[in-house]
Amino acid sequence: MKPIQLVDLHTQYLHIKEEIDHAILDVVDSTMFIGGVHVKELSSELEKYLDIKHVIPCANGTDALQIALMALGCKPGDEILTPSFTYIATCEVIALLGLKPVFVEVDPNFFTIDIDDARKKITSKTKAIVPVHLYGQCANMDMVMSLADETGIKVVEDTAQAIGAHHTGINGKKSAGGIGDIGTTSFFPSKNLGCYGDGGAIFTNSDELAESIRRIANHGQTKRYYHDYIGVNSRLDNIQAAVLRIKLKHLDEYASNRQNVATYYNDQFADIPQLETPSVAPWSTHVYHQYTLKLNDIDRTQLQEHLDKAGIPSNIYYPVPAHRQKGYLQYSESQPKMIITDDLSARVLSLPIHTEMEIEQLEHITNTLKDYIQK
Ligand SMILES: *Cc1c(COP(=O)(O)O)cnc(C)c1O
Repeated sequence: MKPIQLVDLHTQYLHIKEEIDHAILDVVDSTMFIGGVHVKELSSELEKYLDIKHVIPCANGTDALQIALMALGCKPGDEILTPSFTYIATCEVIALLGLKPVFVEVDPNFFTIDIDDARKKITSKTKAIVPVHLYGQCANMDMVMSLADETGIKVVEDTAQAIGAHHTGINGKKSAGGIGDIGTTSFFPSKNLGCYGDGGAIFTNSDELAESIRRIANHGQTKRYYHDYIGVNSRLDNIQAAVLRIKLKHLDEYASNRQNVATYYNDQFADIPQLETPSVAPWSTHVYHQYTLKLNDIDRTQLQEHLDKAGIPSNIYYPVPAHRQKGYLQYSESQPKMIITDDLSARVLSLPIHTEMEIEQLEHITNTLKDYIQK
């Protein structure tokens, strides 16, 4: 049996090695490192794949979020609703822009933003909401959009973990990131569509927002060396775009490999109440960026040590929710308790899931877990 890893990017690379090596060397040979044909082509291919009008590549998923909030015209003091149960980037950019993160609970079954709680936290200063499609499935976007319609707030979907997932709602079937005003994603290597370095992208169906996003991502430039706005430097390079174009062709197959792993785990753990398997929301497909269990009445640290000894890596996404991070206490101290978020942070455990898992590995993981619990 091959050693088990949380993500196996090397085996994945070996399957596409020839095409990747060729594409990378081609870019090197062309010396078109910044900009270039692959960046443009990747945009068009993603626009088609996602059925979203504009896809604007940028340097990483954190920049994508920052640029999205800048394009929406958020001003210092504005409040932005965000789940606390997320990767810190979502909250970080809010704070960096001088905005105020207002932490919202998540649904205890789906791990995505709780709209009833969001509604309670709306004030006259609320400017936007950032639903995070955590672990690979969409937040309830019908509820998000109706809250936005009622209150006039803007919507930025953080789809760094859910590219390729679909949401089915009152407006039919849509790609994750194509429902709110702006969608953002990350091409960090371990993401479902990952490059070989850093990368990200911003999605929108609005021509106006697209223009403003392009401008902000390029130093606020309207015309070469004319800067009507204060922007940032955030671009995807041509080598990364070349890699992503190749991997995009495999994205559906990659998602189905992940879904097969999840189905295997679900079947094996079905009769074990201590291992609560992830629930799939009726409005979303799940692309399983993570396969995350909720543990019931088990010591998580001891279980992780046991798994580790058996050669099985596991991880906690995320052990400390944003509202409890030292750097963010200044925002959360005056905010209500986050009971569900605290409970989930203490109980979640993610198992290895990736595109290259072998049946022997899955058997070893599930047998080890079952033996441990039943002993
Ligand atoms: C990975 C991730 C990001 C940040 O992406 P980077 O490319 O690492 O900047 C933002 N939000 C979520 C939910 C993520 O998982």
